[in-house]
Amino acid sequence: MNAGEQTFVVVGASLAGAKAVETLRAEGFQGRLVLVGEETERPYERPPLSKGYLNGKDPRDKAFVHDSGWYGQHNVDLLLGVRATTLDAGAHTLTLDGFEPVRYSKLLLATGSRVRRLDIPGNDLNGVRYLRTLTESDALVDAFKPGANVVIVGAGWIGLEAAAAARNRGASVTIVEVDTLPLRRVMGDEVATIYRDLHVAHGVTFHFGAETREFRGSGGHLTGVLLADGTELPADVALVGVGILPAVELAAVAGLTVDNGIVTDAALRTSDPDVYACGDVARSMNPLLGKAIRVEHWANALNGGKAAAKSMLGQEVVYDRVPYFYSDQYEHGMEYSGYVEPGGYDSVVFRGDPASGEFIAFWVRDGRVLAGMNVNIWDVVEDIQTLVRAGYGGQSVDLARLADPAVPLSELA
Ligand SMILES: Cc1cc2nc3c(=O)[nH]c(=O)nc-3n(C[C@H](O)[C@H](O)[C@H](O)COP(=O)(O)OP(=O)(O)OC[C@H]3O[C@@H](n4cnc5c(N)ncnc54)[C@H](O)[C@@H]3O)c2cc1C
Repeated sequence: MNAGEQTFVVVGASLAGAKAVETLRAEGFQGRLVLVGEETERPYERPPLSKGYLNGKDPRDKAFVHDSGWYGQHNVDLLLGVRATTLDAGAHTLTLDGFEPVRYSKLLLATGSRVRRLDIPGNDLNGVRYLRTLTESDALVDAFKPGANVVIVGAGWIGLEAAAAARNRGASVTIVEVDTLPLRRVMGDEVATIYRDLHVAHGVTFHFGAETREFRGSGGHLTGVLLADGTELPADVALVGVGILPAVELAAVAGLTVDNGIVTDAALRTSDPDVYACGDVARSMNPLLGKAIRVEHWANALNGGKAAAKSMLGQEVVYDRVPYFYSDQYEHGMEYSGYVEPGGYDSVVFRGDPASGEFIAFWVRDGRVLAGMNVNIWDVVEDIQTLVRAGYGGQSVDLARLADPAVPLSELA
C-alpha cells in the first residue's frame, strides 16, 4: 500500500496520543490520521490539574497540548467524546461507540490509566471526589474554599499536591493514609519523612495507619469520613487518591499480551505487529534498567508518544530513557530521575541539608546511584541522569564525594 493511503489510528486523546500524532505529521506521515478520545476536551496535560490550575496560579487553558485549530491544520481527525469499544487486531478493525468501525494500517493504544475507586459505603455522596480529568479539577477549584474541611484519602502524589493546593486556597486539610508515612513505597522512610514534615509545617493534619471505613452524609451530601478506629473527620469534600489502574480493556479483548499494562518491547510494539502502546498504559522493556516497567508519569507520556510514532513509521527506536517525573508542593519543587523498587536501595545520600529546602537525595545500592531527586536546585537533571545511567551500567561512585556539594556532579559520573 502506498504510504499516503495508510490509516494510522491513535486511541487515547491525552498527552501521549497528542504527541504521537504531532510526531507522525512532523516526520512526514501523509496518510489518514485519526485520534480517538472518550473525553470531550481536546488533549490536555494532567499535572496542572493538581498544581498550577488547582492552586490558582495558572489559567485553565494552559493545560492544553495544542491550540484548538492545530488538529484541523494538521489534518488529524480528532474524534472527541468517542469511546473505542472493541479491537479486532486480526481484521485491523477498531469499533467506536456511535461511529462506523475504522480499519487501520497501524494502531497506537495510548489509553492511559483510570483511578482506583474506593468501594465503601457512602462513595456516591456529593462531595466524594477523584482527580484525573480537567472537569474533576474544576470541581475541586470550586470546593477548595477558605474554611472548607477537606479530607484527602491517600498520601500519594495526587493527594499531597491537592493538599498543598487546598491549603493554598485557605481550606483545612486532613490526610488519611494506611501506611506510616506519605510516599513511603516510592521514596523510602528517609525522604518520606521530609514530605510529612513539609505538610505538617503548612498546617496539614495526618492520620497514619488509618483505614477509611465509610463516607457519611446528610441529604446526599458528604459531611464526614469515618475511620476504622471510629474517628469521624468532618468533611465538606473528600478527595480519594489511592492509585490508578492501566486502561487495558481494548488490548485484553484483542488478545494482546497484558500483564500490569500492555506489554511492549523496547520499540513500543505490542504482541501484535501492527499495534503499539505507550504512556501510562504500556509496560515496556527498558534496556537500560534491564526490565519491563510501567511508568505513570508525564515525561513518559511525552517521550513515549514521540517514540511510538517513530516506531510506527518503521524507524529504529530503542526506548531506554531514565524514568523522570516532577512534583510541586508549596515552595518545594522537585525532579526525580531513576528507578528504585520499594526497598531496593541500601542508603540515601544527601547532598546539601534537607532542612535548608535545597538538596539532592540519591538512592544508592552497592555504591551505584539508582535514582536522584533534586529539590529546589535546578539544571542538574542531565548530570543526575548520567549518574543513574552509569549506576545501572554497574559503575559505583565515591559516596563522600557524592554527598559533597563542592564536588561538581559532572566529575562524579
Ligand atoms: C492530577 C494529576 C497530576 C499529575 N501530575 C504529574 C506530575 O506532576 N508529574 C508527572 O510526571 N506526572 C503527573 N501525572 C501523571 C501524568 O499526567 C500521566 O502520566 C499522563 O497523563 C499519562 O498520559 P497518557 O496519555 O499515557 O494517558 P492519560 O493521560 O491517562 O490519557 C488516556 C486517555 O485515553 C482515553 N481513553 C481510555 N480508553 C479509551 C477508549 N477505549 N476509547 C477512547 N478513549 C479512551 C482516556 O479517557 C484519556 O483521555 C499527573 C496525573 C494526574 C491525574
